[in-house]
Amino acid sequence: MGLIIPIGTASWYTMTVYKERLYDEFQNYCFETTKNIATIMSDPIYYYSPNNGSMALEVTKADTRVVKVEVYDTLNDMEFIEFYIPQRELGALFEYKERVFTKDNEEIGWVKIVFNDFKLSQDIEDKEAIFQTVFGLTFLVMMLIMSPLLYLKLILPLQKLLRQSKDFRKNRLENKFQWDGKDELNILGQSLELARVSIVELIGTLEEKNEELETLHITDSLTGLYNRHKLDWELLSEINRADRFEYSFGVILLDIDYFKSVNDTYGHLVGDDVLIDLAKILKENTRQTDIVGRWGGEEFLIIVPKADEEGIKKLAETLRAAIENHIFNLVKTKTASFGVTLFIDNDCIDTMIARADKALYVAKEQGRNQVVYN
Ligand code: GH3
Ligand code: MG
Ligand code: MG
Repeated sequence: MGLIIPIGTASWYTMTVYKERLYDEFQNYCFETTKNIATIMSDPIYYYSPNNGSMALEVTKADTRVVKVEVYDTLNDMEFIEFYIPQRELGALFEYKERVFTKDNEEIGWVKIVFNDFKLSQDIEDKEAIFQTVFGLTFLVMMLIMSPLLYLKLILPLQKLLRQSKDFRKNRLENKFQWDGKDELNILGQSLELARVSIVELIGTLEEKNEELETLHITDSLTGLYNRHKLDWELLSEINRADRFEYSFGVILLDIDYFKSVNDTYGHLVGDDVLIDLAKILKENTRQTDIVGRWGGEEFLIIVPKADEEGIKKLAETLRAAIENHIFNLVKTKTASFGVTLFIDNDCIDTMIARADKALYVAKEQGRNQVVYN
């Protein structure tokens, strides 16, 4: 289309200018002819010789564009020559009139000639027909050449762009699109592809950050164990499970014995190291399915899924012994007391923890470094 409109306009303009030129030439011819005849008729009128006048008109009469020639003798006030072929009245008619003078510039008559533009308009029509045929053929050839080009350069890339934007709309961001060209559609495709890559990267970063946030949200920053928030959530979900199914679980609440003295003797940082070491001991001596967390201060909670009394007591004992046998930096030995309980019907978090806390209290009361089941 980009080519056809300028070519069409240029052709139409050329044709119009060409027509105007032909009409200018035709009118010039009419004017000159009339003027010549007026000059030629001077002597025949002056000497009153219509025969000579008629002879001088032979060539003009033969011209099929001449419809009528009228020569008037104003000396005698009469028609001098009249030539008229009605069959030649075709197309548009143009009338030209010139006065006839003697050599002494005395007006003795006039000449009127009527011309038709039939031949001229026929010529123009023929030329227009040729012109239109040539233009039509050129257009056809151009279309034939352009169609595959149009398909390759426009239709195919547009379809590809459509697929690409559809993938975007439907969030199918894993599909890659290769664009190698330098034209506008290729640049558009490349931009979309770059946007897709950026979005995929951003989503990746966002997911990573979300995971980090989620981890931070549930982790105790000092020991790396689960925090109180996560323990509460896990307790609730275990209680729900136990309420609904034939299922039991238990908790082990442990508190470091005389921990205050560690801080008092070695300082807070050493105390922190003891907490970190203890967290490691707990992790190393529990199963993957056990949920180990820091309940607060120097108290830890282990949620033990699918537990029975014997099993959970055994686990608490293992942990107690592991702590007792561990050599802590500077502090050397440290012990902890344990309160253990299993889920019973109608338990909620508070009732379960209260029972474990009570057992822990008893363990402390009985001399610490021991496991008490309640
Ligand atoms: P008991 O055997 O009766 O449990 O004696 P205890 O000294 O352990 O008990 P108490 O509750 O009196 O002291 C607990 C101490 O733990 C008090 C507090 O300073 C310390 N503590 C709590 N959280 C942290 C912590 O994050 N880092 C350090 N270094 N100390 C902590
Ligand atoms: Mg305590
Ligand atoms: Mg303590």
